[in-house]
Amino acid sequence: MNTNEIYQSLGISPKVLNFCKEVEESLKSRFEQIDQTAEYNQMKVIKAMQDNRVSDVHFAATTGYGYNDLGRDTLEQVYANLFHTEAALVRPNLISGTHALHIALSGNLRPGDELLSPVGKPYDTLEEVIGIRESSGSLKEYGVSYRQVDLLEDGTFDYENIEAAIHENTKMATIQRSKGYDPRPTFSVEQIGELIRFIKKKKPDIICMVDNCYGEFVEKIEPTDVGADIIVGSLIKNPGGGLAPIGGYIAGKKEWIERASYRLSAPGLGKEVGASLGLNTAFYQGLFLAPTVVASALKGAIFAANVYEKLGYAVVPDSKEERFDIIQAITFGNPESVIAFCQGIQAAAPVDSFVTPEPWDMPGYDAPVIMAAGAFVQGSSIELSADGPIKPPYAVYFQGGLTWYHAKLGVMMSLQKIADKKLLFIP
Ligand SMILES: *Cc1c(COP(=O)(O)O)cnc(C)c1O
Repeated sequence: MNTNEIYQSLGISPKVLNFCKEVEESLKSRFEQIDQTAEYNQMKVIKAMQDNRVSDVHFAATTGYGYNDLGRDTLEQVYANLFHTEAALVRPNLISGTHALHIALSGNLRPGDELLSPVGKPYDTLEEVIGIRESSGSLKEYGVSYRQVDLLEDGTFDYENIEAAIHENTKMATIQRSKGYDPRPTFSVEQIGELIRFIKKKKPDIICMVDNCYGEFVEKIEPTDVGADIIVGSLIKNPGGGLAPIGGYIAGKKEWIERASYRLSAPGLGKEVGASLGLNTAFYQGLFLAPTVVASALKGAIFAANVYEKLGYAVVPDSKEERFDIIQAITFGNPESVIAFCQGIQAAAPVDSFVTPEPWDMPGYDAPVIMAAGAFVQGSSIELSADGPIKPPYAVYFQGGLTWYHAKLGVMMSLQKIADKKLLFIP
């Protein structure tokens, strides 16, 4: 079998294959750029590991309290070096990105403090953490108030109202780097730096926290290189490299990380406890692979943007735009195509490829949602995945891909499924 034949054996028609091959050809210089960023970030990771003398002993499992967990403590120092911060928490008991964000916020805010979001509404799950939506145990219940300044019409920062929103009690600012699943632009690290400088000029002691989810290793610099006091992310996204089976990280100034650690474990205990239970190897190895995994996901996103833009669909970011996260949105304008797209992503997966996803009424959503994920780790969105709410404008959000070839197959399979249903015409 040659390569074309093996694609055909997977269900990709010569027509889809040829169309996609042409698109791929046009992306060579774009991909080269991504590889250059990956190369730089790979060296950054290796340097941080070498500087911390990472060794066999760090892969040993600890149990119980986890005192003197050398692997855990060294991994945290590796993250700190990598992000150019004083300290970090990198833990399996930070169970998700939302949890890590919650710990960073609740560890550093006290009753009477105010939290500011200068970039509009935060990620859905944070609404309950903050108390934007009534929720038991929210920051609001603990006497922490919240203020939000929406972005301007064109997606830029509303400096005038940000300035007006900052007052004596403003203690922290939460800045979400990725658009997540909102129709606004993702910010570059440079833009985030500009915003932080503005905030600090007005009130230097505001702790600026960046939700770094989906952004790690997309650029050569991270928000902590441009003034962020704390960055937070999930290990089942970019920095876990697909190998971390759970986890989150919080990196930043020592004082803020320690305060977060007292919230994670208990006052008085902090960072000293928390067994890593044998997960350290996956964390180290995943971090080691992360720069190339992120590059694969980025190539997949750019490929999808180019394939679908060429076929006449609206894509965000567009086919030429610079990328600051790994998420790709494609607007189909009809529910059937959203469903076929997700079924194609599922059919291309190494795991559960035989399952056909259908829209369902997910708690917390106002319309049925269809999700495709044939992942080794449940909920892992650094692995190839897609989801779309079944409501206008009928858009799907697509992200991940541990290898470029898998991401490519996913995009081709999505196109195949849509074409099979005669919902589009391939020239
Ligand atoms: C995924 C994500 C989160 C939450 O992470 P979970 O691991 O799903 O809890 C928060 N913010 C952004 C921008 C995200 O993309």
